[in-house]
Amino acid sequence: MSEDSLFAEAEKQLDKALAIYKVDPETELRLKIPQLSVQVGIPVRMDDGSLQIFKGYRVRYNTLLGPSKGGIRYHHTVTFDEVKSLAFWMTFKCAVVGLPYGGGKGGVTVDPRALSQMELERLSRGYIAQIANFIGPDLDIPAPDVYTNSTIMGWMVDEFSKIKRDWTPGVITGKPISLGGSLGRDDATGRGGFYVFEILREKLGLAQSKIAIQGFGNAGTHFGKLAQSVGHKIVAVSDSKSAIYCEQGIDVASVERFKKETGKLKAVVYKGDVASEVSHQEITHEELLALQVDCLAPAALEKAITGQNAASIKAKVILELANGPVTPEADGILEKKGVVVLPDILANAGGVTVSYFEWVQNKEGYYWELEDVHTKLKAKMEKAALEIYNIHKDSSCSMRTAAYVAALKRLDAASQARGTAALFRRI
Ligand code: NAD
Repeated sequence: MSEDSLFAEAEKQLDKALAIYKVDPETELRLKIPQLSVQVGIPVRMDDGSLQIFKGYRVRYNTLLGPSKGGIRYHHTVTFDEVKSLAFWMTFKCAVVGLPYGGGKGGVTVDPRALSQMELERLSRGYIAQIANFIGPDLDIPAPDVYTNSTIMGWMVDEFSKIKRDWTPGVITGKPISLGGSLGRDDATGRGGFYVFEILREKLGLAQSKIAIQGFGNAGTHFGKLAQSVGHKIVAVSDSKSAIYCEQGIDVASVERFKKETGKLKAVVYKGDVASEVSHQEITHEELLALQVDCLAPAALEKAITGQNAASIKAKVILELANGPVTPEADGILEKKGVVVLPDILANAGGVTVSYFEWVQNKEGYYWELEDVHTKLKAKMEKAALEIYNIHKDSSCSMRTAAYVAALKRLDAASQARGTAALFRRI
C-alpha cells in the first residue's frame, strides 16, 4: 500500500462531488493541500527509568470556515497519511453541520494499552508541549478520538494552560465536566448518528429495524442503546476480539456492563447484579458485516468494508459511525447494489457538534443543562441530514457525494468572501 493511500481515497470522494458541484478554482486549490503539518518526537521517561521517543503529528488541514477542529488519536498504526486524511474529513464534517470550524487532526504512534497511567500522562503532556505553538482556542482545537478520552484531555488542557500561564479551557474539547467539559459530550457521536438514522429512516423505507454494530466502543454502544430504546433490535455486535449474533436482540446496556466487568462480549441480561445468559451465537467479524439486517453500523476503524467484502453486504442502509469505514471501491459496489450509505461526515458529526457546544460554553463561561445540549444537537443533525437527503434526491447522487456538495457550498462561499482572483483583477 502506498504511503498516501488513505488520503488518495479521501480525495476521490471530493473529486466526485466536484464533478457535480462546480466551485471557484481557488476553493478547489485551497482544499487540496493541508495548511500546516507538524511532526514531533515526544521524549517520555518510562517507569523503568529508560527514555522512549514517540512520533506525534498535528495537521491543520483548512481554516476557511474558522479555527481547525479535530481529535487526537493514540494507536500503534497511526501515520502521517492517516492523520492528514482524518484532518481532511474534519474539514468537510464541520462544514456539513454548519459549524464555524475548519478541519484538523492529531495522532501519536503508540499502543496506549502498553503504557502505565503515569507514562500515558507524561506522553500526553509531552505531546501538548511539542505542539503548543500550533494550537489555541481560536487557532486549532483538539479533542478525543480513538483510545484518547476525557482524562487525557484534562491533562492536556492543564499542560497547555501551564505553558501559556493562562487558564484556557477552549483550547481542547471533550474535557472532564470539572474542567469545563460539556454535559452530553460522552454519548454525542452515537446520539448524533441516532438522530440522523431516525429522521431519514422512513424516507429510506425502513420501519422497526434489525441492526448490526461493528465496534462496541463509545460510538457503537451509545447508538445501540438509543436505537434499542425506540424499539429497534440490535441483533449483532462486535469488538476487536469477537462478534456475537442474537436473533431476539441484545440488551445493549447489559452487554456493555458485562464487557466492562469481564472484558468479554456475551448476550446477557442483568437482574440486579446477576447476569443471565441469553441464547446467542459467536460469529466471525466477516459474518457480522454480511448479516441480513436493515442497518449495518460500522463503528470501529477505517476500511471495514472494501472491494473485497462489499459484494457480500446485505444491509439496506449503512450508518458510518466510524471515520472512513467504506472505501471508494466499496462505495461503487454498494451503490450498484442499492445499499444507501449514510456517510461518516454526517453520521458521526454529533461528536464534533457537542465539542462545538463545549467551546461556546467555555467562551461564555456559562454552562448548559443536558436537555439544552440534546435539543440543540437534534436540531443540527436533523437539519444537516435533511439538507443532504434533498441534494441526494435532486442531484441523483449518493448521500456521500451529497454531503460533500453541502460542505462545498459553505467552503466555497467562505473562500470567495475572503477574496478571489476575479476580485484582485478588478482592483
Ligand atoms: P472506541 O475505542 O471507544 O471503540 C472502538 C471499538 O471498536 C472498540 O470496541 C474496539 O474493540 C472495536 N474494534 C476495533 N477493531 C475492530 C474490528 N476489527 N472489528 C470489530 N470491532 C473492532 O472508539 P470510538 O470513540 O467509539 O470511535 C470509533 C470510530 O468512531 C472511530 O472511527 C472514530 O474515529 C469514530 N468517531 C468517534 C467519535 C467519538 O466522539 N468517539 C467521533 C467521531 C468519529
